[in-house]
Amino acid sequence: MDNGLQQLVEISRIFGADSSYVIAGGGNTSYKNEEKIWIKASGISLATIDESGFVCLSREKLGVISKKEYSGDPLLRENEVKADLYEAIISPKELRPSVETSLHDLIGYRFVVHTHPTKVNGVMCSQQAEAVCKSLFGQTALFVPYTDPGYILFKKVGEGIREFKEIRGHEPQIIFLENHGVFVAADTTDEINFIYDQIMTKIDAKLVDELPCNKKTELESVLIDQVEKLHPGFAGYTAMGFKCDLHRRFVSDEEIFKKANKSFTPDDIVYCKAHYLYIPSQTTEEEILKTASEKVTAYYNTYGYLPKVLALQGEGIIGIEDSPKSARNVLDVYENILKISFYTENFGGPKFLNDEQIAFIDNWEVENYRRKMAKS
Ligand SMILES: [Zn+2]
Repeated sequence: MDNGLQQLVEISRIFGADSSYVIAGGGNTSYKNEEKIWIKASGISLATIDESGFVCLSREKLGVISKKEYSGDPLLRENEVKADLYEAIISPKELRPSVETSLHDLIGYRFVVHTHPTKVNGVMCSQQAEAVCKSLFGQTALFVPYTDPGYILFKKVGEGIREFKEIRGHEPQIIFLENHGVFVAADTTDEINFIYDQIMTKIDAKLVDELPCNKKTELESVLIDQVEKLHPGFAGYTAMGFKCDLHRRFVSDEEIFKKANKSFTPDDIVYCKAHYLYIPSQTTEEEILKTASEKVTAYYNTYGYLPKVLALQGEGIIGIEDSPKSARNVLDVYENILKISFYTENFGGPKFLNDEQIAFIDNWEVENYRRKMAKS
């Protein structure tokens, strides 16, 4: 086996196993030589990946995507790009390469490790993302303002890399994406680790308060036991809840919950949907059920789908999904939203995705595929 691929497997597992870098199926990694690139397949988890979890593609064929003219209609365009991406697959044909494949290919370094670290996103999902990025990393990193994922993001990063190279004579090894995460690139995996350490050290120095203790205990609630009563659409669904100091900090009242009631990143939407539902506490179980069911129905009428996250005032967070594994994923991803929101307080407060940005992800077929894979 190609030695680079072996190193890629090793570094992927290290980052994948650390939930402060990636959660659920998030993040992706790649290794390339002159002719080929190996990239994580969509829906495969980095933590347990081996060589069979990577898709090998022809870089010559991938190059077509950056030169070609595509449809102006976003959904048509993404489908056309996807067709060209599949065209570039050498093996295995049945796996789907990461949606960020072209972006990885664009980067000149051999290894690329793309993650969504909680602390990095504490900066990237804040009001001061760009300014903080400039002050902490100066000329060493490229900052890319939020862009819809897929082809448009690929084009924008490509432009950014070219400009960076013109000015500084080399490509950036750190690319920060607002409301998303970071790409770190290098010719060795040791250097990747070194760069990540530097990023974390710099951000750590800016964090004033420690994260509230998140030693979770199980939340007991009638909303969990009788989730099916909240809406007919919840028939057969699993609800699960946790409470801890971190959760309680955000659910003490509706005003505070506004700091965590929307999604920060595309991945948040993939797992938890874009909006999170606050349920005010009531004196009896009957009243809680009634209030919650009214709120769930109103939510459904507004967004056209059911909520996956309920915040129960003064208590904790409830995740609702069609299986225990998926409900657990919802809770893990949502807890990360709480942590990110907490960290953004060091940088002017949270900055969520806006309605248009959310709508793009909601309509994106590629993300639906990831959702499906995450459940399987
Ligand atoms: Zn990503």
